[in-house]
Amino acid sequence: MLNRTKTNQFMVKNLKFGGNNHIYIQSMCNTKTKNVKETVAQILELEKLGCEIIRVAILDEQDALSIAKIKEQIHIPLVADIHFDPELAITAIHQGVDKIRLNPGNISNKEKIIEIVKLCKEKNIPIRIGVNGGSLPKDIAKPTPEHMIEAAKRHISILEELDFHNICLSLKCSSIDLTLQSYQLASEVFPYPLHIGITEAGTSFKGLIKSSIGLSKILDLGIGNTIRVSLTDDPKKEVIAAKEILKELHYLENIPTLTSCPTCGRTAYDMIPIAKEIEEYLSTINKKIHVAVMGCAVNGPGEAKEADLGVAGGNHEAILFKKGVIIRKIKEENILEELKQEIDLFTADEV
Ligand code: SF4
Repeated sequence: MLNRTKTNQFMVKNLKFGGNNHIYIQSMCNTKTKNVKETVAQILELEKLGCEIIRVAILDEQDALSIAKIKEQIHIPLVADIHFDPELAITAIHQGVDKIRLNPGNISNKEKIIEIVKLCKEKNIPIRIGVNGGSLPKDIAKPTPEHMIEAAKRHISILEELDFHNICLSLKCSSIDLTLQSYQLASEVFPYPLHIGITEAGTSFKGLIKSSIGLSKILDLGIGNTIRVSLTDDPKKEVIAAKEILKELHYLENIPTLTSCPTCGRTAYDMIPIAKEIEEYLSTINKKIHVAVMGCAVNGPGEAKEADLGVAGGNHEAILFKKGVIIRKIKEENILEELKQEIDLFTADEV
């Protein structure tokens, strides 16, 4: 099996992609691409949370013609998601897109494929082939790992025949087992970087559970060069979830950690909204900091003594503690504000 570090390498805009490089976090906009203002606003928000590559759906010429305007205003590589229509791919390339997602086997006009590949080579634009268990070619009966690979081969061989190798591949299914086996097989058959994810995983509750299990199994095999957590929800949650998964599996550092107790009869203040808001606040911060939000002053500081800083509730007040040592008291109404200030002031040297 070829693991992530041994795959082909190439650039996606300014990112070194594949091989022993970082595992990049991807997401996809759910705005209409032709609505440049909304799309840019969403991308900038996702960038802040740690999204490193963003994909947009290209349904028509107007979408394709929006690419340059979007690119001017964002910082991360932009991927155009195109199905069937080669003209849209050509327009996207001329607009300066950084990568395209396209299955060449779905395009019947061979001349057009040659034109797309020639342009991609000229402009150094990689192509992602995205095989999806739910939309295999009609003559392939049902999704099995072998059938997923067969579908991938049909698309890949068209590009290889044209001596094009800056290919990224994804083989997504909604079943964890099938996805896992397909990626395992792909890593044996192809030398290309793999974009991993469990597709149509579901809403942010069940989808997160499914994606976390599936992605950690795939990553544990040493497979995966980019990652997307597909959720039926705001893409912001996809990015935060991907970051958490990579952090917990030790692929990412400089990411905050939040410890919060499950609450119990000893909980002495309205803790849950505070824990949620601090979690959201931490998702915008790029530093290694461990913060705790605990329900009671009796057990909280001790239970979270490994935290760099934290609060534990008392009667209409909370105690602020650092590494289990109580520093001062905070009035209940000031907990959020003061904890955020402490987080901002925290530097790793304090540890
Ligand atoms: S920290 Fe206190 S409130 Fe939270 S679970 Fe432990 S004992 Fe209960």
